[in-house]
Amino acid sequence: MSKLALVTGGTRGIGAAISIALKYQGYKVVANYRTNKKLGDEFEADHSIATMSWDVSNFTECHEHIAKIEREYDMPVSVLVNNAGIIHDSMLHKMPFQHWQDLMNVNLTSCFNMCSAVIKKMREEEYGRIINISSINALAGQIGQTNYCATKAGMIGFSKALAKENASKGITVNCVAPGYVTTDMTKNISDDIKTKILDTIPVRRFAEPQEIARAVIFLADENSSYITGHTLSVNGGQHME
Ligand code: NDP
Repeated sequence: MSKLALVTGGTRGIGAAISIALKYQGYKVVANYRTNKKLGDEFEADHSIATMSWDVSNFTECHEHIAKIEREYDMPVSVLVNNAGIIHDSMLHKMPFQHWQDLMNVNLTSCFNMCSAVIKKMREEEYGRIINISSINALAGQIGQTNYCATKAGMIGFSKALAKENASKGITVNCVAPGYVTTDMTKNISDDIKTKILDTIPVRRFAEPQEIARAVIFLADENSSYITGHTLSVNGGQHME
């Protein structure tokens, strides 16, 4: 029987590619989004993937929606991809507190909210795959992104701890750390800056969302059972550790 997968921010950009790739792997997929209902509805119609809107930074909304999904599908979530994320870039000396707080809530607290909503059933089932979408900038740092880098590095520590807690229960917890990807998040980078960035990427281009989804599919596979607490970089060679 096919397993149930949930992708946050799963209706556009990297998340959309992950939702579609999981569907083609035979999963029942639910794609979450926050505000973009028109796009969510189009995505649902175009790809026959169920969509559901809620705010992943809200603990109660996460728990209520997961409970609803598991009731409706009459099965637990087996694969959780925490992909929803935002940026509010500025140098720290100009950063309003709200831009720090918003990123903590949406990028990092969301991981706690979503994982705490699925982990008990995963432990009961003795099976689960949790994949958190971090970033190259968690590993390398980036000017103007103290808030973003802190949240994305936080995800890595969170994932390692959760991986250790649940390793004996058939649950793996890993991160994927993309480099620059062609999505709405990067579309406003000026040509000037883009040329400078491309000079630092050995592959000489931004990634396509499908290239990030490929890494997620690999980690989500039942047979990837001995890979846990890992961060898989997909960055065209831009940052090597
Ligand atoms: P996009 O900006 O294209 O899409 C973000 C998605 O997250 C949207 O579906 C959005 O929903 C959803 N979202 C945002 N806030 C919330 C919230 N509070 N609750 C629920 N959903 C929310 O992002 P990308 O596809 O570019 O990025 C996806 C992930 O990959 C992010 O975590 C990002 O940090 C990370 N990443 C991206 C890179 C890149 O170059 N693009 C590089 C490295 C990491 P809605 O449509 O309703 O707004």
